[in-house]
Amino acid sequence: MNISSQNTSAIVWFRQNLRLEDNPLIQKAISSHASVMFVFIGDEDGEEDWALGGASKWWLHHSLKSLQQHLKNRQSSLHVFKGDSQQVLKTLVRQWQVTTVYCDQRIEPYALKQEQAVAQALQKEGVCFESLNISYLVNPTEVLNGEKKPYRVFTPFYKACMQRPFNTRLPDSVSDRLPNIFPPSPLYDAPIQSDCDTLASCSIDDLSLLPTRDWSDGFLSYWQPGELGAKSLLQNFMKNTAHQYEDTRDFPSIKGVSRLSPHLHFGEISPHSIVRQLSHLPEAAPYIRQLYWREFSFYQLSHSLDITREPFRKEFMDFPWRDKAEYEEDLTLWKKGMTGYPLVDAGMRELWATGWMHNRVRMVVASFLTKHLLIPWQEGARWFWDTLLDADLANNTMGWQWVAGCGVDAAPYFRVFNPILQSKKFDEKGDYIRQWVPELAHVESKYIHEPWLLGGLLMPDYPEPVIPHSDGRARALQALEEMKAKGRGQST
Ligand code: FAD
Repeated sequence: MNISSQNTSAIVWFRQNLRLEDNPLIQKAISSHASVMFVFIGDEDGEEDWALGGASKWWLHHSLKSLQQHLKNRQSSLHVFKGDSQQVLKTLVRQWQVTTVYCDQRIEPYALKQEQAVAQALQKEGVCFESLNISYLVNPTEVLNGEKKPYRVFTPFYKACMQRPFNTRLPDSVSDRLPNIFPPSPLYDAPIQSDCDTLASCSIDDLSLLPTRDWSDGFLSYWQPGELGAKSLLQNFMKNTAHQYEDTRDFPSIKGVSRLSPHLHFGEISPHSIVRQLSHLPEAAPYIRQLYWREFSFYQLSHSLDITREPFRKEFMDFPWRDKAEYEEDLTLWKKGMTGYPLVDAGMRELWATGWMHNRVRMVVASFLTKHLLIPWQEGARWFWDTLLDADLANNTMGWQWVAGCGVDAAPYFRVFNPILQSKKFDEKGDYIRQWVPELAHVESKYIHEPWLLGGLLMPDYPEPVIPHSDGRARALQALEEMKAKGRGQST
């Protein structure tokens, strides 16, 4: 413990890691200061292209409520403010005579700028500012190839990660063996001083995060945002699924995955804690490998900040996507789950109803949009951004660019998923389709993947395919050839 700072006050500024357990920021703050204030700032104005989507806001609202309750249970509280983070923190450190502000590092371009601005402002106030990477197992600058450059292919990246202890920048005081970092005594919480500079805190409701339409009403029947929800999903996964994850993870009709992604995104559980709890199960290795895809996404974004807007492979800047006016109608059909391809439609409707979609189906719907419909991946990424509860700038960008063939270590563009074969392979009996496309609930399994074979009269409520598979595939491959020809033209 730092003796000289014992009588001082600190702020823990929650950004994305909305948890108390296994949180090194809190550990550091409470072991070094006499009083610690927990702060969340609703600061959205500065977000440029990627302001929080509707589904993320919904999750954030409930996650903050949960965090507030957990702090209350420990005789502490969450102070919520609305406004520019830099201004809010500046006022608070004066008001509360704070000597150190702790926060979790983020890597999204906007969040990086925000952190720099806050660091400078606090430095001028003579306040220490410590930001820690507590969201990821890897520190991007520490994992580099032999040429000291970032890895651009997953497998060598993963192998390099496996040879290192995870996240070496965590402070020594944070023991991986201590699942609950709280000391037995209640947390301190300094009274707010009432000087003239007082900044009014607000309630979580004042942040107006919940959507005004009734779209998200059903989400609470699928999800429990907050640390307890994350813990219970992990327990469930360890008990029922982890041992067979490799065999089940591609089948959307069964409970074959963990569904932890929104909890991970909002930092309600740390990847460290998951790895720690799973590492004694040898059969959980494929799951841990998937967690490293999350790391790989974050790693790529931190090394190439422009990939949220532009393709990683620059030749795709010239890709001949259809014009907006031409594709707008098809985009709407895709969003609504009315493309006439049952697996695609089931996925899009699952997304709308639950705020989540199975990974296999995400790949199929993304391929369908970027290849069969020849619509730019950014349109799909935007829709996911608004509707996914786990919307994550790094993972979403990586997922879309991977499918569209323009990303780091991406699937080649010419590999066009056949939505009928994918459906037959991964939803053989059609259970997933029947769950989300009620118009097809009574269709026999042998027709459910291609209901048009039954004829339109038997299927009055379900649309014909927006484009025949072979036409969509041929048009996509032709577009790829055009892009390549342009590239050849430019290089001669
Ligand atoms: P599990 O199979 O239980 O895996 C456990 C965890 O590992 C996940 O929670 C996730 O953190 C990580 N993970 C698993 N697969 C991947 C993957 N392919 N890429 C990166 N991380 C992975 N994931 C997001 O968290 N946010 C997004 O915005 C997002 N957008 C995507 C967009 C597209 C087009 C695609 C193809 C994938 C996207 N993914 C995204 C990745 C993946 O689909 C989800 O992480 C996964 O479906 C979450 O479900 P789960 O927690 O049950 O996964």
